[in-house]
Amino acid sequence: MEKLEQTRLDALHGFFAESRVVTLVSHAHPDGDAVGSTTALCAWLQAQGKDMQTILPTPPGDNIRFICEGFSPLVYTREQAACDRRLAASDLLVCLDFNGFSRTDAMEPALRAATARKVLIDHHLYPDEAAFDLCFSQTDISSASELLFWILLGMPEVAGDAAQLPPRCAAALMAGMTTDTNNFANSVYPSTFEMASRLLAAGVDRDGIISALYHSYRENRIRLFGEMMKDRLRITPEGVALMFLPSALARRYDIREGETEGLVNQPLAISSVRMSVLVKEESDGTVRVSLRSKRGVSANRFAARFFHGGGHEMASGGKILVPGDVASIQEIEAYLVDVSRQYMREEAAV
Ligand code: 5GP
Ligand code: MN
Repeated sequence: MEKLEQTRLDALHGFFAESRVVTLVSHAHPDGDAVGSTTALCAWLQAQGKDMQTILPTPPGDNIRFICEGFSPLVYTREQAACDRRLAASDLLVCLDFNGFSRTDAMEPALRAATARKVLIDHHLYPDEAAFDLCFSQTDISSASELLFWILLGMPEVAGDAAQLPPRCAAALMAGMTTDTNNFANSVYPSTFEMASRLLAAGVDRDGIISALYHSYRENRIRLFGEMMKDRLRITPEGVALMFLPSALARRYDIREGETEGLVNQPLAISSVRMSVLVKEESDGTVRVSLRSKRGVSANRFAARFFHGGGHEMASGGKILVPGDVASIQEIEAYLVDVSRQYMREEAAV
């Protein structure tokens, strides 16, 4: 990672000192890094005596909710009026783990309209810097949680000593980094191991976090993964693994928010697979796309070119518009084969 600029850390410390009501925000369909980074900052600033609240555009899944237990986020889709009141009453908004307000779905207009100072702490490509008063944006880092860890260590109250972080803050940072690296498999840097080492030394219960994250699934989820792998995985001649999960199938397995996390990674275990695509029909009819690639193939460019999205070089996401990109849901599988072939040919030609 790049060294954090002292002037920026001083500016953030000033913003914290001048604020009493601080609201934290992360992206729609929050993942472990979204919940981990917001909870960590919530715990730290609460210990500094601030009035703290996290707002998430949509609810977190069951298997990551332990991270924010006791710091209950408000959820925009469920309690919009309370969220709007909170935004209007805030002195400071800190946005974590996303690069622009469009990633907050229905919350976007309220965030744009908010008059509070706005800070960004993020690790995605192409941050919308003009929308913020102060930006911490790095892409050569594992996660927003790791970036926040190094920012907090740069605050005078912590002064480089991770043992000064409140225990819930430290645990949330470890959980967020662990999920975003897929348990140290992706986007891991020397600074990432250093963070983990310092948090462990400070007493974080990593075994408990691993158990809650990876050994606490419901049987239904594993059964669905089995069916997807056995009957619904298609691999194109170009080495693109394609999976389509219709909402009726998700319903049949009683799949809840967050429970398909990790599914898109499974086909990467196959040596000939260079990129994996999971397309999920949500219960509200929207169609979301998850992309993971291996080195040499850009999931980010594929997301931007065909799926109105983006993210990181090897882990990205987006959507398919129905109607728009395809006339109906029935056309999705043929569309995926077609755009995969087109994209892999373009990439080969570069
Ligand atoms: P996931 O596949 O886990 O939903 O998302 C992987 C990554 O892709 C996320 O970390 C996020 O950076 C990015 N991503 C997911 N959905 C979208 C989207 O709709 N737009 C953009 N720009 N990025 C997305
Ligand atoms: Mn992240």
